[in-house]
Amino acid sequence: MSRKWDAIVVGGGHNGLTAAAYLARAGRKVLVLERRHVLGGAAVTEEIFPGFKFSVCSYVVSLLRPEIIRELQLARHGLEILPLDGTFTPMESGDYLWRVDDAAKTFREISRHSRADAEIYGDYGRAMVELGRFAKDILAMTPPDPFSGKLADVRPLRDLLDRFRALPELDRHNQLQLFTMSAIDFLDQWFETDVLKATMSASGIIGTFLGVRSPGTAYVLLHHYMGDIDGAFRSWGFAKGGTGMVSESIAAAARGFGAEIRVNSPVKHILVKDNEATGVVLENGDYHLASVVLSSCDPRLTFMRMVGAEHLPPAFVSDVSRYKFRGSSGKVNLALDGLPDFRALPGHGRHLRGAISISPSVDYMERAYDEAKYGQFSRRPYIDIVIPSLTDPTVAPPGKHVMSCFVQYAPYDLRGGSWDEQREWFGDTVINTICEHAPNLRERILHRQVLTPLDLEREFGLSEGNIFQGELSLEQLFFLRPAPGWAGYRTPVRRLYLCGSATHPGGGIMAANGRNAANRVLGDRLT
Ligand SMILES: Cc1cc2nc3c(=O)[nH]c(=O)nc-3n(C[C@H](O)[C@H](O)[C@H](O)COP(=O)(O)OP(=O)(O)OC[C@H]3O[C@@H](n4cnc5c(N)ncnc54)[C@H](O)[C@@H]3O)c2cc1C
Repeated sequence: MSRKWDAIVVGGGHNGLTAAAYLARAGRKVLVLERRHVLGGAAVTEEIFPGFKFSVCSYVVSLLRPEIIRELQLARHGLEILPLDGTFTPMESGDYLWRVDDAAKTFREISRHSRADAEIYGDYGRAMVELGRFAKDILAMTPPDPFSGKLADVRPLRDLLDRFRALPELDRHNQLQLFTMSAIDFLDQWFETDVLKATMSASGIIGTFLGVRSPGTAYVLLHHYMGDIDGAFRSWGFAKGGTGMVSESIAAAARGFGAEIRVNSPVKHILVKDNEATGVVLENGDYHLASVVLSSCDPRLTFMRMVGAEHLPPAFVSDVSRYKFRGSSGKVNLALDGLPDFRALPGHGRHLRGAISISPSVDYMERAYDEAKYGQFSRRPYIDIVIPSLTDPTVAPPGKHVMSCFVQYAPYDLRGGSWDEQREWFGDTVINTICEHAPNLRERILHRQVLTPLDLEREFGLSEGNIFQGELSLEQLFFLRPAPGWAGYRTPVRRLYLCGSATHPGGGIMAANGRNAANRVLGDRLT
């Protein structure tokens, strides 16, 4: 079986599908090959238990680029984003902190904890918006290579520097701090309320093997703020029908432009001849030839498994082998026959419709990391909970609910024992931790799905279970992602491109990687 395609995309996650959609829109004949039975990768909806539809991995959307929603007409293809309002943090004292999308209410609520913090909270938000404005254009650009010395690379770097110089002094100062400080050190300069800093710092550690006091985590705060700047939704939201609907709507757009998309089609090898990619071979022995191949899988899978080190320069192989994954997150998905009742704020009010953050203090967050540093999952973890069925009743049977619990830390490498032995213990630990705040949860649980970093690797092809296909640490961002000299979606193998989260601008449901990579392919005029 052979057929000449213009482009083959390995992996039907949302970035692979986005690349396919843009290439097909430009008139290219495109084939997408997805290993699993369902599209979406880490942006997927699955009915794990009858009637309960889970956003199995990613659960909230905000970073998805507005120009992509527009250009691919995703709303017409079924994408609808529902608001996720606020963050509720129950505290160990029995009190709580509940921030909502209403400045006056949030002011009153923070004032209960600190008047000074309430007064400066708005200024902080505005400062982050300014920083994000500077950073957002970077998301859509192909990172220039500062080492190449070519004019095409020097010019965008100089423009960036000029824009940086034009910022007000305070913004420049903040920007540099964000690149170098820990999330807590950065927040300490603004706020005094411990629970407020603990909850805000959480977005600095998502998907990293770092603690809230580790330098470099302040930048990740900004990465998570980006959607608030000019994202289509200006805050976090749920995709109606689960996050899989993001992927499904992009797939529908791609099909509309003529792309062919196949599931249950695991790629075994990327064919390379005379240092050029020529096609792929599937696990079942079928092969397909193409002018270019794009891989949305991470560098370890793409280069070490599918291409083979023998086809690559040794220096590049050594960069790929040093690329850090270090998965640190797990997920517990619960099917419930009723809602949890939080001691700090009993009842089923609006606080259950937003994020519920188990991040009661800065020390709690840092201790959760301490255990992971020494090879254990956190015995009292940070947990980010959402109950999407309250906002989107289509995902659970009437009167029942789905509850998604994102958990840190769950180190991929356990010291002593294996994840297969400790999976249920990990699940129990998460539920016990939530029950400290909402004791009735246990009797509400009908079913549970526990995903460890090992499960994320086995089931979703995320090496070492890293949720972003590699850590979002500074040494792996922008012109260094995934390797110095190879941040522009091209690879050392001609006609082979990367288009997934391991490329600039990193992980999260953004789709920018797929679009940037498709633009690079079209610009190279090899198809
Ligand atoms: C637990 C978890 C929670 C998260 N929460 C959020 C969140 O709330 N919000 C957010 O914005 N982001 C979140 N993320 C991150 C976000 O989901 C990912 O960054 C994003 O979905 C990655 O998309 P991608 O297309 O780049 O890669 P992937 O989704 O990893 O897609 C790669 C695809 O390649 C396929 N594949 C692998 N091997 C082969 C092969 N041999 N042949 C063919 N296909 C193959 C895989 O099955 C997969 O479908 C989360 C991720 C996880 C895991």
